[in-house]
Amino acid sequence: MALRVLIVEDEPEMAALLRRGLEAEGYVVDTAPEGVHAMTLANDRPYDIAVLDVMLPGMSGFEICRWLRRQDEALAILLLTARDAVDDRVKGLDAGADDYLTKPFEFVELAARLRALRRRDAIGGARVDVGTLQIDVAQHSVRTDGRELRLSRTEFDLLRLLAINTERVVPRSEILDSIWGSTAHVDPNTVDQYVSYLRKKLDASSTTARIVTSRGVGFQLIAPPRI
Ligand code: CA
Repeated sequence: MALRVLIVEDEPEMAALLRRGLEAEGYVVDTAPEGVHAMTLANDRPYDIAVLDVMLPGMSGFEICRWLRRQDEALAILLLTARDAVDDRVKGLDAGADDYLTKPFEFVELAARLRALRRRDAIGGARVDVGTLQIDVAQHSVRTDGRELRLSRTEFDLLRLLAINTERVVPRSEILDSIWGSTAHVDPNTVDQYVSYLRKKLDASSTTARIVTSRGVGFQLIAPPRI
């Protein structure tokens, strides 16, 4: 299920560049050159992510941000600011933005920020499918072949984190940081412990999805096709 991104950017070259880059990353992308067009698009269809330029003709990115936030609590919003002014940052966060990026920026940086936003609860309503596993974040449930997999809160968070990052090995430090918030007071072995609980439950179910250990690095969820 591809995530939908709305880009609001008045410079055509920049808009085209962002569209091409994000489409290559697997997103479904719409662009609007100004606020009214953006509002029309957002009224028509739900988006998962909005990327808003602050400096626009007509409505500013802040105003669009405020409007979008009122419509949709769960939308992830990233602002593109032209200046590194603290002012803009504060204004952006006040307007309900989740993150901001100062122009000029490298596309890889934008892509990384969007991946980080995906990892957060901001896109909490999404369902993640990996092989036969259906992970419903809003319902906090996991099913495979119609059967519910009973997971603890931590096991669920761990599975979700691995499920939205199936293309790579997720390092232990990132798991610690993302689930326990801080690495300060948690024994790194805790991760291995929870991986082992979760692995047992996956192995006991009908799914082909399993967790692979990358020695010294971290863990990756893979879903080999059923033979
Ligand atoms: Ca602009």
